[in-house]
Amino acid sequence: MKPAPFDYVAARSAGEALAALADGDGRVLAGGQSLVLEMNYRTARPRRLVDVNRVPGFDRLEAADGTLRVGPLVRHHTFADGAVAGPLGALLSRVAHHIAHPPIRARGTMLGSLAYAHPAAEWPAVVTALGGRLELESAAGRRTVDAETFFAGPFRTARRPDELLREVHLPQLPQGSTVGFAEHRRTHASFAQLAVLAAVTLAGGRVIAASVGLVNAADRPVRARAAEAALRGQPLDDAAIAAAADAAAHVDADPRPQPYTDLAYQRHAVAVLTRRALAQARGPQPDGG
Ligand SMILES: Cc1cc2nc3c(=O)[nH]c(=O)nc-3n(C[C@H](O)[C@H](O)[C@H](O)COP(=O)(O)OP(=O)(O)OC[C@H]3O[C@@H](n4cnc5c(N)ncnc54)[C@H](O)[C@@H]3O)c2cc1C
Repeated sequence: MKPAPFDYVAARSAGEALAALADGDGRVLAGGQSLVLEMNYRTARPRRLVDVNRVPGFDRLEAADGTLRVGPLVRHHTFADGAVAGPLGALLSRVAHHIAHPPIRARGTMLGSLAYAHPAAEWPAVVTALGGRLELESAAGRRTVDAETFFAGPFRTARRPDELLREVHLPQLPQGSTVGFAEHRRTHASFAQLAVLAAVTLAGGRVIAASVGLVNAADRPVRARAAEAALRGQPLDDAAIAAAADAAAHVDADPRPQPYTDLAYQRHAVAVLTRRALAQARGPQPDGG
């Protein structure tokens, strides 16, 4: 199908984009990999498309003062290609390789994925588990929201229609942290049925910090705090990994009915994927993390 008629604004600056969004009738066009599809199906009928692809500086990706700042035009492939150093970069690279396939990774953006809030998207869980913060801007000003507050349910966020998601801030993982990511999906390029990410920091052979995130295991991305608590203070051995997997499956996950499977299976899969992600974090780190 063809999209319903719409106006098109090619913004040349952040100010132009915000002015075109101010009445709440505009939709940002970033990578277009979700929005254009929806417009073609007519499940989205924006009155105005606000294309931000020509805005200078929106491709900013900057690591400074312990924080990675990601702008609206940083695309999935940038992370897959290893543009970010250290353990955080290793995690982002592993995750990005699981998003769709190369043509979609070449256009789709991290901030577009966060704004879209697909329940099976990987970035929302990464940003939530790592304690990321999202900066929103409208003609009225800027505000910053914790990722855990930002996501409100499938395709629902705290973003108002007049707001542009301007930047995401991710805290760097301490040097020496290790990471893992495990995903279950039906075909190579499809969305995750479930996925789990993990980042672990050890000192003196014991876990001093852990971040565990669950993709598609609830109505929104989950920071698996019970799993993290099961790891803290323990050696990263089989017993701690099993306890964390059990906590992720039975405390943190809140699976919803799915057409393909029942809730018990989903909890079982969360446990299996958590074990795999943590086993990866315990193993060699090929990306230098
Ligand atoms: C076949 C297929 C498979 C896919 N598989 C996966 C997958 O496995 N995992 C995954 O995570 N994703 C997957 N995707 C989605 C893909 O990652 C998209 O790129 C992503 O969801 C949206 O990013 P985008 O930049 O393309 O956003 P767009 O399509 O341009 O926009 C999506 C929505 O976000 C809004 N938006 C975008 N940027 C901003 C901003 N800066 N501020 C405010 N609002 C904004 C738009 O207005 C729109 O409502 C898949 C898509 C397809 C077509």
